[in-house]
Amino acid sequence: MVRASLTVDVEEDIPPFFRSFKGIEKGLPKILSTFNEFGIKATFFVTAEVCEKFPDIIRELADEHEIACHGFRHERLDGLELPALHRTLSTATDKIANTAVEKPVGFRAPRLRVSERLLRALADLGYNYDSSVSVWHPWQRKFVATAKKIGIKELPISIDNTMLRIPMGMDLARTQLGRDPLIVFMHPWDAINIRRERLGRSEAPWRASIFWNSIGAGERFLRNLRSLISMMLKKKAEFVLARDL
Ligand SMILES: [Zn+2]
Repeated sequence: MVRASLTVDVEEDIPPFFRSFKGIEKGLPKILSTFNEFGIKATFFVTAEVCEKFPDIIRELADEHEIACHGFRHERLDGLELPALHRTLSTATDKIANTAVEKPVGFRAPRLRVSERLLRALADLGYNYDSSVSVWHPWQRKFVATAKKIGIKELPISIDNTMLRIPMGMDLARTQLGRDPLIVFMHPWDAINIRRERLGRSEAPWRASIFWNSIGAGERFLRNLRSLISMMLKKKAEFVLARDL
């Protein structure tokens, strides 16, 4: 049996490119109805900003699922010194705890940019686990050992949103199905048709990245999410909240 957690980073649309929240407004309900269809409880890494803008949605999520922390405004934290990290993380933690009516114990770094100082600050603030490392980012591997040394659990992501959108991505996802625990990573904006939504103006150097993130977003993503869950169930995966791993 494999223990698996489905995790969703709840933030603005394709950060840092847009300041819209169409993913939360239109994509999140579709992801939730997919989870409900299979009776799955999941973990949502939310920014404090999203708690300010959508308190009712976060409160409703908190009734059924786990709410964890994804920073204050999706700003990168890996370059900050310890005192600044303590400040920004405790403000974000309080905001999220007040909205969700439960203190978050899990964290995922905005843009998956983790650092030793960040892990240390999380441990200082009483966090139990971090899930910012990806098994597909070899340069991050050292942080698994760092986290262990600091005394915080690291839960590496093994199936990411891109695999659920691009051609052949599901073949890559399939190679991870035996992993325990198995962490799947996605965003509300993966579930909207990014090209059709017209998220606003973007600067020319960003266009390639936005194009990349729009491939397969919306219908294909949702179809693949459903088939991934079915594949995982065939492998007798047990879906649990990340905090219970
Ligand atoms: Zn994020």
